[in-house]
Amino acid sequence: MKEKIINIVSNASYDSRKINQILVDKLNKSGYIPSKQFNENAELIISIGGDGTFIKALHKNNFPSIPIVGINTGHLGFYQEVDPDNIDEFIDDYTNGNYSIEQLKLIEAEVFTRNKSHVMLGVNEIALKAKNSKIIHMNVFVNRNHLEKFSGDGILISTPSGSTAYNFSLGGSLVHHSLDALQMTPMAPINSVVYRSLSSSIIIPGNYIITLAPEKRYNNSNLLLVDGQEYFFNNLKKINFKVSNKNIKKLVFSQDSYWLNLKSKFL
Ligand code: NAD
Repeated sequence: MKEKIINIVSNASYDSRKINQILVDKLNKSGYIPSKQFNENAELIISIGGDGTFIKALHKNNFPSIPIVGINTGHLGFYQEVDPDNIDEFIDDYTNGNYSIEQLKLIEAEVFTRNKSHVMLGVNEIALKAKNSKIIHMNVFVNRNHLEKFSGDGILISTPSGSTAYNFSLGGSLVHHSLDALQMTPMAPINSVVYRSLSSSIIIPGNYIITLAPEKRYNNSNLLLVDGQEYFFNNLKKINFKVSNKNIKKLVFSQDSYWLNLKSKFL
């Protein structure tokens, strides 16, 4: 019989460690093999913690195709589907196949420096800013059409599932995760007699390419923010953003959870 391996990723908080122990015990009793090490043959990943734990688990394991579900021991828990009080119900529902799989789109950035290119993936968003809290000036293109010369703190491009995160705090819209789109949201855009920048976010079809090309003086003083992690590039020329071909398979136990989440966490 095939081994039913489940990878468990947990943050180090007291609550998460306690839930981890309870979960491992219950999974063993239900015939599963919980694994602390990432096992590629696992049928499921369980992340215990907050949204940050869920996102870090995906980055650390190179955005695996194995389905993932989160047990929420953090504050908000937009990605974390399961309440720690409902572990028995969760194991029963999972074992009986009472769930569906939601495909979450990732954002892909192809970063071009003078002589190299790097591909980076994000779950929530990728933002381009200037280093040291300076204003950045950059040209923005959509499918090679010049849209604007932006001046301000930076530009953030979010996935639909990331639209409830940093994007929302910047005044961006909420975009349902079933839509194939990226949202480009300005961060403190400057509008004066000297500079003209679009002040609202734009939702762009998933098969379009957004290009951010910073002015020359930012080629060595830029900051790329990928799901809260900072990266710096020397000789940065431009970045192309698109919806990645890779996606995340998240377990969902109720079709209403998106709307319940929005109401309970924002209102
Ligand atoms: P973190 O793990 O402490 O998360 C920060 C907060 O963002 C948490 O409350 C988390 O629940 C919430 N969050 C994360 N993803 C979310 C989503 N898809 N929808 C709603 N809320 C979400 O911090 P971190 O690991 O440094 O960064 C993770 C995320 O934090 C980033 O991807 C970014 O979206 C968000 N962030 C938000 C702001 C802001 O709102 N001003 C600033 C920086 C980072």
